[in-house]
Amino acid sequence: MTDRFQFTLNATDGAARTGIIETPRGAIRTPAFMPVGTAATVKAMMPESVRETGADILLGNTYHLMLRPGAERIDRLGGLHGFMNWERPILTDSGGFQVMSLAGLRKLTEEGVTFASHVDGSKHVLTPERSMEIQRLLGSDIVMAFDECPALPATEDEVARAMRLSMRWAQRSRDAFGDRPGHALFGIMQGGVTPDLREESAAALTGIGFDGYAIGGLAVGEGQEAMFGVLDYAPGFLPRDKPRYLMGVGKPDDIVGAVQRGVDMMDCVLPSRSGRTGQAWTRRGQVNIKNARHQDDPRPLDENCSCPACRNYSRAYLHHVFKSGEMISGMLLTWHNLQYYQDLMQGLRDAIAAGRLDDFVADFHATRDLGDIERL
Ligand SMILES: [Zn+2]
Repeated sequence: MTDRFQFTLNATDGAARTGIIETPRGAIRTPAFMPVGTAATVKAMMPESVRETGADILLGNTYHLMLRPGAERIDRLGGLHGFMNWERPILTDSGGFQVMSLAGLRKLTEEGVTFASHVDGSKHVLTPERSMEIQRLLGSDIVMAFDECPALPATEDEVARAMRLSMRWAQRSRDAFGDRPGHALFGIMQGGVTPDLREESAAALTGIGFDGYAIGGLAVGEGQEAMFGVLDYAPGFLPRDKPRYLMGVGKPDDIVGAVQRGVDMMDCVLPSRSGRTGQAWTRRGQVNIKNARHQDDPRPLDENCSCPACRNYSRAYLHHVFKSGEMISGMLLTWHNLQYYQDLMQGLRDAIAAGRLDDFVADFHATRDLGDIERL
């Protein structure tokens, strides 16, 4: 166990990297997928079950936790780790993204953002300084700088303005974070799809100096081609010896493409959210368990999966409990989806370490291209 935050790169394959982030709360194997625990829970999962899928780290949402139950309350109760019974690393976002999404309900100034709570309409102010304070009260291991991610569509001037404001906020975040051994602060690169702006943002962030760097402003509706276009060059602007985090990504093929382009960390609500709506992700593509063709099917969802849904239940049962509105439906499909994502990450890490990522990716696409598993 270390008392420091430390990233070690173990192997590369093309632009892809595998390594380990050591923290006082445990190691994070990269590339890493972080399940999202928005309101201090990964919905439908016990924390020990999340760990069983292979997750090393969870993400918590500053915006939601500051409003309910409140950061000061979580601090009084001993911090987020004990509160939610997850003793391993936690990354918290800055709250910026959710606040900026409150169109019409928020006011942006140089100082920060004033907004009305979606819970009870109460008025709040979020600044770089307050975001750092909230994330400290939560006990977050990896703290994100406060930034502005402009909503799409946005003009290049608007993207440039938001990026430069975010860089001034990055410096204020750094100053407010101070020196906290064992805890990390990540800066967030902005700049949309414009290489010059991305380069300017990366230079500003590396000039300030962070423990890791996020690539922000992607996965916000620009589409996979545009996102990969930015990932073809943007990671190259960042220091090689620090982790790179792509926020809010994504579908399995987004994840594979991002890892191929040098991304080390990702998070997304997709596996848990789709688990609650009857959607399963498998090696052979997406399965819609609602479909009537499953009602007499005795096979598991995915015979190569080790999760309880696949080990102990048939598709017919999963179909039945979904149609009956039973809670176990969301529990089993969420577990399966998180297991699929973590297995995918393990496969990527192994392939990079062995120098056979191209083969792994070809196989990933070929298997998915076999078509919808429901028709097999
Ligand atoms: Zn499974």
